[in-house]
Amino acid sequence: MSFKDEVVMVTGASRGIGKEIAQSFAKEGAKVMIIDISAELAEEVKEELTGKGLKAESFCCDVTNMQNVQEIVTKILDKYKRIDILVNNAGITKDNLLLRMTESDWDAVVNVNLRGTFVCTKAVTKTMMKARKGRIINIASIIGIRGNTGQANYAASKAGIIGFTKSVARELGSRGITANAIAPGYIQTAMTAKLDDNVREELLKQIPLGFLGTATDVAGACLFLASDDARYITGQTIVVDGGMAM
Ligand code: NAP
Repeated sequence: MSFKDEVVMVTGASRGIGKEIAQSFAKEGAKVMIIDISAELAEEVKEELTGKGLKAESFCCDVTNMQNVQEIVTKILDKYKRIDILVNNAGITKDNLLLRMTESDWDAVVNVNLRGTFVCTKAVTKTMMKARKGRIINIASIIGIRGNTGQANYAASKAGIIGFTKSVARELGSRGITANAIAPGYIQTAMTAKLDDNVREELLKQIPLGFLGTATDVAGACLFLASDDARYITGQTIVVDGGMAM
């Protein structure tokens, strides 16, 4: 699977799943734009990749800020003249039972996860439409499909991403652009490292394959959806969860 010289924007790419996705595209020859709210971490990932002879740039960016995102898209287009693939991966959690969930917990999660996906997608739409080519891949979650106690805000944001993806797929299909979502299950990252042993044991019982996924499992699905092999797939949500949500 080669992405030689393709320009790929990955949000939230300074760690976890986003970093793995960025690295996987870079290994296949892409020029990867590491977009993250932490300038320092994004720069570290860029250094790590370029140190291996891969092509990467880093940008400090809050995905909820339309002006900030637009400026970065303009910089990328000035230099590379194209954006082929956008991966909306930046996401946060602020879990609490509904009775204890504050308005700010709700707003923060919906803002980064759902609004951020809208903002970044809107920012690349014009250039992809002009090129009559593009791949938009949104990282949702199985929580957006099945819900979860203590995650009403997160579930709503991720279900929103799935609906958003279908609408974008319908709107942009005639311009050669596909939009798909990936719904990971429980993946070993900082986000899930906080789980205590009992919760982890209970989770494993619900996963037919019997183990937590890795960021590489999600990156694999992402590269497939971005490849020519997936040219006739749009508006879909690919579940990467060891069978947990079926
Ligand atoms: P992670 O390790 O917490 O990484 C998320 C990244 O997004 C961090 O680098 C974070 O930066 C960045 N970010 C947060 N807010 C941002 C903003 N406003 N603008 C730009 N960047 C921002 O998370 P992960 O586990 O890799 O998850 C990645 C994606 O997969 C998320 O969308 C998550 O919901 C989804 N997902 C994860 C799992 C899982 O099991 N891990 C399962 C299903 C879905 P800072 O840390 O500096 O804030």
